[in-house]
Amino acid sequence: MAEAKDAEILVAGGGMVGLAFAVALAEAGLEVVVVDCMDPARQRDEAFDGRSSAIARGSQQALQVLGLWQGMASAAAPILDIRISDGRLGTGRAGGASALHLHFSHSEVASEEDARPLGYIVENAAIRRAVLDRARALARIDLRAPADFAEVIRRPGGVTARLSDGTTLKACLLVAADGRGSDQRAAAGIKVTEIGYGQTAIVATVAHSLPHGGVAHEHFLPSGPFALLPMTDAADETGKPLHRSSLVWTERRELVAAMMALDEQGFAAELQRRFGDSLGELSLWGGRRWTHPLSLLHAERYIDTRLALIGDAAHVMPPIGAQGLNLGLRDVAALAECIVDARRLGLDVGSATVLERYQRWRRLDNVALIAATDSLNRLFSNDLPPVRLLRDLGLAAVNRMPPLKRFFMRHAMGLVGDLPRLVKGETL
Ligand SMILES: Cc1cc2nc3c(=O)[nH]c(=O)nc-3n(C[C@H](O)[C@H](O)[C@H](O)COP(=O)(O)OP(=O)(O)OC[C@H]3O[C@@H](n4cnc5c(N)ncnc54)[C@H](O)[C@@H]3O)c2cc1C
Repeated sequence: MAEAKDAEILVAGGGMVGLAFAVALAEAGLEVVVVDCMDPARQRDEAFDGRSSAIARGSQQALQVLGLWQGMASAAAPILDIRISDGRLGTGRAGGASALHLHFSHSEVASEEDARPLGYIVENAAIRRAVLDRARALARIDLRAPADFAEVIRRPGGVTARLSDGTTLKACLLVAADGRGSDQRAAAGIKVTEIGYGQTAIVATVAHSLPHGGVAHEHFLPSGPFALLPMTDAADETGKPLHRSSLVWTERRELVAAMMALDEQGFAAELQRRFGDSLGELSLWGGRRWTHPLSLLHAERYIDTRLALIGDAAHVMPPIGAQGLNLGLRDVAALAECIVDARRLGLDVGSATVLERYQRWRRLDNVALIAATDSLNRLFSNDLPPVRLLRDLGLAAVNRMPPLKRFFMRHAMGLVGDLPRLVKGETL
């Protein structure tokens, strides 16, 4: 006979956001079923996702409270400084950063906060392992993967889903964490605004001969931002430390195939031409490169009958502000808080009142950030001389205004706005 199971919450998508959400709810005592169409062994494979994520201070606090940070801390490199500049092609004096730049240092917020880093760079492979391990360890999470939905029916009274193996699942709420192409979003008829930039991000781990000192570099080149983000050191065959940074190189789509076709030496030479010499000699670490076509996407609403969207199912943005996962984790913290508060009052956790509270809380916050990210991406993927001069002067001006700098830094650290309890480092 086919299996039938009742849970409080059903999550579609067990990526970094979906599993973090399941952990938050399970820790608060709820029964959760997570369904993902991908085999978790693929997510654990180093070759699956070569990206690293900049984890803002607020996200790190949430991960810590959820017991997830412990599983990834050894792969986390602190960000102590951020250097933003207009870059030029060429090495030495001709290439690298322009003299006008913006420099954020953790010591500038230390007086108000403490001496902790601005955030951390963590390999996605380590984040994926940490969330999968924790989800597997929690008895209240039933992770079904690989598994496919055959049918999902959402009615005012609840959700019933049938998986392709015949299992029937019943829940009060369906949470869609099934990424940018979300089937559940489409099935609910939720429209999206999508903007293409004609850009693709080339991602790789880069080894360099000089230490990065915890500095995250973002150079703005005519084709788009070129970022080198500090990673933990590795060791070579002799045990000598090997300094590493994570590359996110945004390039015009038509040029990407040629860059990907270069051999390792040719690729390293192109990196050096774009970044300059400040980290010494650059080379490709681990021999792999990945590409991610970039666009911006925002769902016109985050909720429907017994449905809430979180993470990339609700919003996708170009990596210029390193905010996608951070916003997804804020969605996790806010929706989990709305659900847990309702449950403590004995209310229906999938009711329209609970969902509307979530949408009011998160959508406005995300709209502001998405608009800012879109403007920044356009402003900094442009080589018109007047635009270039203005942004150079703007960077230099902000650099000389400590209160404005502190404002930007607190935003980047995810410490501004109506913060959910988890993001403040409190339990649910
Ligand atoms: C180049 C690049 C660099 C980035 N850098 C940063 C950064 O530094 N900091 C940051 O905060 N963000 C960054 N981001 C954004 C971040 O990576 C994403 O926001 C994040 O990965 C989204 O996670 P998610 O779990 O919402 O979606 P996904 O990772 O897409 O997960 C969706 C899951 O749903 C599953 N799924 C899909 N369809 C179905 C279905 N029909 N049924 C069941 N399961 C399904 C998939 O198998 C998958 O496991 C970057 C993005 C890019 C492209």
